[in-house]
Amino acid sequence: MQLYDALSLDKSLPKRKYLDRDATLAAEPNLAPEGLAGAWRFYDAQVPFVERLVIENVIDAAEHGAVVLNHAEAMTYLRDGDAVTGAVVRDRLSGQGIEIRARFTVNATGPWLDRTLQPLRDGATPLLRLTKGIHLVTPHATQQAHVLFAQQDGRLFFVLPWLDGTIVGTTDTDYVGDPGDAAATEDDVRYLREAAHRAFPNAPFDEIHFTWAGVRALVREEGVRESEVSRKHALYDHQKRDGTRGVLSVVGGKITAYRDIAEETTDAVSRRLGRSAASTTATTLLPGARPRPGEGSGAAAPDEALAELWPVYGTRAADVLALGRRSG
Ligand SMILES: Cc1cc2nc3c(=O)[nH]c(=O)nc-3n(C[C@H](O)[C@H](O)[C@H](O)COP(=O)(O)OP(=O)(O)OC[C@H]3O[C@@H](n4cnc5c(N)ncnc54)[C@H](O)[C@@H]3O)c2cc1C
Repeated sequence: MQLYDALSLDKSLPKRKYLDRDATLAAEPNLAPEGLAGAWRFYDAQVPFVERLVIENVIDAAEHGAVVLNHAEAMTYLRDGDAVTGAVVRDRLSGQGIEIRARFTVNATGPWLDRTLQPLRDGATPLLRLTKGIHLVTPHATQQAHVLFAQQDGRLFFVLPWLDGTIVGTTDTDYVGDPGDAAATEDDVRYLREAAHRAFPNAPFDEIHFTWAGVRALVREEGVRESEVSRKHALYDHQKRDGTRGVLSVVGGKITAYRDIAEETTDAVSRRLGRSAASTTATTLLPGARPRPGEGSGAAAPDEALAELWPVYGTRAADVLALGRRSG
């Protein structure tokens, strides 16, 4: 807790507080009372729709003049001697191949990185250690968000209110294969259900709406348990390491730090292109967080129809509603 305070000195959220046993049970009546001494209450942020966060960044990039292609799979690199000069991309909707030329190429394919680097680093030691994490989505089970430790192995896991339900997650097990094929196994589900049931014996964790699985891209580290591998990120300079110019890879990294990682990457590319524009990422709001004329960014939605869209689109909700009305 003290480390948490030290690392978030300038945070805008309320301070942590110790709750004794009675206060803990008052805040979370479903919690198993046996052996309970108390709890620390602290505050953190949650991104309920991570895919929207991606879209917000894509919209922002397009508004700044980027050409954005989705359903576009990079198949291989364009090469000129020892330099990468772009990529061949396949439009997965039309099947059409497109050559994209670039003065500099960044590979940010997350857990697919070693696969997408194969044409450049064939046979080289992988850069990543992949671990799978799954989540359960169950009916509403708790009042608060909880950080708990699983009795089976002492690992940290979460029980989080999410929309009208609850997320229980996650697991952390080594993974081999295409990250797109990751799925929850019965063992994964049993592990989380047992761990969560121990803390909340009467909660509806047997009623699972759905599960989902993802694969973490961790900077390769051997000889330690999956959950002990650092969550740090690294920029891999192919010129320094493999003698290939014109390309940089982003290895690992948490989404919490994504803007900082993006800034570091963009600065590194700018230096290589001989540019020195100051980055404004740290102080730039995403499109849905920008105030519209006459509104504050935290303003309540002005009418009921927008209230539904507001948590998803923020200040862009009115545009989305207008689009919906235009298309009937
Ligand atoms: C179970 C789990 C729990 C997590 N919990 C947290 C958490 O609580 N907090 C946190 O900060 N982070 C968490 N993370 C980590 C977080 O998900 C990652 O930090 C984040 O997704 C990394 O973003 P990225 O864009 O680098 O990679 P990704 O989100 O993996 O995106 C990579 C993209 O590359 C695309 N791609 C792959 N191959 C190609 C190709 N050939 N051509 C074109 N595109 C391609 C993929 O389709 C994908 O869209 C968690 C991860 C997992 C798996």
